[in-house]
Amino acid sequence: MNEKKKFGELLIEKKIITTAQLEEALKKQKELELPLGETLIKLKFVSENFLLETLARHLGCEFLNIAEDDYKILDKSLVKVIPMEICHKLRVLPLFQIIDDETKQLTLAMADPLADYAVKEVEELTGCSVSPILTTSAAIEGGINKLFDVKVSVAKAATMEEDSDTIKLVNKILLNAVNLRASDIHIEPHAEEVHIRMRIDGVLQLVMAIPSSQHPAIVSRLKIMGSEQKSVMKIEEKRLPQDGSLSRAIGGHAVDCRISTLPTIRGEKIVMRLFDKDRATHVGRIAGLKMSPRMELEFRRCVRQPNGIIIVTGPTGSGKTTTLHAVINEINDVGINIITVEDPVELNAPNYINQSSLIPPAGYTFGRALRAIMRQDPDVILIGEIRDRETAEIAVQAALTGHRVYTTLHTEDAAGAVMRMIDIGVEHFLVSSTLVSALNQRLLRKICPYCAEEYVPMRVEMADIGIDNHVIEEILSNPDKYKLRRGAGCSACRQTGYRERQGVFEMLTVTPEVRNMILQKQNSDVISEKTRESQSMNMIFEEGLRLVLSGVTTLGEMQRLPRGDYKMKSVERIFLDSQIA
Ligand SMILES: [Zn+2]
Repeated sequence: MNEKKKFGELLIEKKIITTAQLEEALKKQKELELPLGETLIKLKFVSENFLLETLARHLGCEFLNIAEDDYKILDKSLVKVIPMEICHKLRVLPLFQIIDDETKQLTLAMADPLADYAVKEVEELTGCSVSPILTTSAAIEGGINKLFDVKVSVAKAATMEEDSDTIKLVNKILLNAVNLRASDIHIEPHAEEVHIRMRIDGVLQLVMAIPSSQHPAIVSRLKIMGSEQKSVMKIEEKRLPQDGSLSRAIGGHAVDCRISTLPTIRGEKIVMRLFDKDRATHVGRIAGLKMSPRMELEFRRCVRQPNGIIIVTGPTGSGKTTTLHAVINEINDVGINIITVEDPVELNAPNYINQSSLIPPAGYTFGRALRAIMRQDPDVILIGEIRDRETAEIAVQAALTGHRVYTTLHTEDAAGAVMRMIDIGVEHFLVSSTLVSALNQRLLRKICPYCAEEYVPMRVEMADIGIDNHVIEEILSNPDKYKLRRGAGCSACRQTGYRERQGVFEMLTVTPEVRNMILQKQNSDVISEKTRESQSMNMIFEEGLRLVLSGVTTLGEMQRLPRGDYKMKSVERIFLDSQIA
């Protein structure tokens, strides 16, 4: 009774209800046998959300509007912690429990957070400190029913037969991913089912949908698999993100896999990133990059320079690492010492190439790795990425002292690499004297060869992408010369019309002319513009169009390419500048 009085007084104090309303509610409450708050809601003196949110804020606890769907987040292992009768009696619903070396904590949904006796009783019963969350009586009743009903199916899931079904299902997911050449697997709990999407050629596709009831078992199985190496993934911990990793032979491929979990309102979402080591050995050489003939010739000349820096630019997932590995595969020789430092090593290189994987938590950073590498008698150093001044300075030092350095940066275009090095803190004269070339790249999906068809594009389709009018005119007035293709969709490409990807490039060679422009502190637009003429450089957008008109990819894929603010060359010129002069 005491608590209830305090509760009522608080509401009057907060001007949520009047004294008269409180008196009426207290009278009615005895009839209804409901907590005071709910009685006030029944009497329509106050709205439920407003009351609970205000109260929660005042008490410094959270208000959770538990809906039917949210019952899926209930931790079924908690049925052993508090018996159902106690939950009903105290009108509480256990939500999460965290037990580790330091904490023993139970998050408890309560209809009346002022019921101190309930908190005390649960604390005594469980030995955990209780952190209360405010919710409605209806939500608690529904939650209790759900939690204890589910107990039956959980017990069933624990039988050997269902366990092996889960193992089979998880293996099937992994095998599917390898067969479909997926880079990532997403396991997402939704209201009705669990969706399994896979990133294939850079785009997510829905591959499987399975009943929600199987989600907890899949998550548990993956957590067990993810704990086989360095990290331990806790099955009971569903409230915090976790990481793990595994190595398996899947469908005849050696696959490394990083697993991460994210608590969502519908349960844990799992993402697995796959590294297919066997596919990695097929990276091949520079010819496999499919650059234009002119660019490939120039790029080969650059990578054979005895010293200097070559930078590959582009966003994450644009194939930069693959390009650099193609380069070191190409130059690999018993006569030289090639060392890589990567975060982490994703592709396994052949003999004579020494790969070092960073471990940042242990203090093994790019800076530290590079200082060690300089004492390892290197000829060629591959630095996974330049992120800071220290790494940039060591790269420059290495180049100045007669080494070849290959690395990557995140920039929009090739000339942007110059500016980024300067922004990071490298002097203009050091950039101009060490940089050999900058290569900008993206990956475009190739048209599926099994369902490719020719079509005549609409003017607006090309204009929307940013193709200049004079270029559109040129394409439309030469329908026999410039043909566009697209994939109609078939079983080989899962109806997407695309199969595998190919790089598209833009390359800037640091000639004496470019060196001067860097020293004169010209910006990247000026450098690009001058180079377009003197080096016959095609911008990446123009190279993309060349691939479209060569039937490799589609107009739609060009939307992945930065357009830039320049007047496009004629199609004829673009093709001419792709050929060896
Ligand atoms: Zn197809």
